[in-house]
Amino acid sequence: MFLGHYGLAFGAKKYAPCVSLGTLFLAAQFLDLLWPTFVLLGIETVRVVPGITKVTPLDFEFYPFSHSLLAVLCWSLLLGFLHYRLRKNRTSAFVVGFLVLSHWFLDLLVHRPDLPILIRGNSFVGFDAWSSYSLSLFLELSIFLPGILIYEKTTSAIDDKGKWGFRSLVMLMLFVHFGNTFGPPPPGSTAVAWVGEMQWLLVAWGYWVDRHRTTQGDPRRSRP
Ligand SMILES: [Zn+2]
Repeated sequence: MFLGHYGLAFGAKKYAPCVSLGTLFLAAQFLDLLWPTFVLLGIETVRVVPGITKVTPLDFEFYPFSHSLLAVLCWSLLLGFLHYRLRKNRTSAFVVGFLVLSHWFLDLLVHRPDLPILIRGNSFVGFDAWSSYSLSLFLELSIFLPGILIYEKTTSAIDDKGKWGFRSLVMLMLFVHFGNTFGPPPPGSTAVAWVGEMQWLLVAWGYWVDRHRTTQGDPRRSRP
């Protein structure tokens, strides 16, 4: 899943208006931000197997440190705790922790039964919506579109950067999603991992856009 994770992050702004969109992206995509680094370090492995699912050619061979339910629970608690220590806001910390955990459950909908429950063992789950283009697109968009609408309603642009930065971010995400789905398979696991690392740019873009938008009660709202 790609758009769905970002959709949930956009929508979470309503419940944690003080948290930057960049932090919400970081939390919702934390597992997919860790994963490419783990692949590049050789800690986790992936293979490119065209046709393994309709939507993605990736065979997630071994990724329990980024994507097992047990690890995700730990990452979720850790990020929620760190956010609380930094911001002293329980609701915001809960939203950050919830977003980290949500990633696994959204992945559960689309992945083949390759998501590990524990670090070691033979329990893998996945409802395999990636076996259908239309079902996976429906799932992605049914989270992404409401999410961006909620973010747009919850915030307002302070300037043109806030307006066009947000719109172009949404367009880029759609472009990346359709490129990944309908484009040629990547040449190998290293290329997959480096493309995955590019998601840090979306996180940075989230921080930048959020600085040029404001929520109700934010003193910047009265700025020209
Ligand atoms: Zn994932």
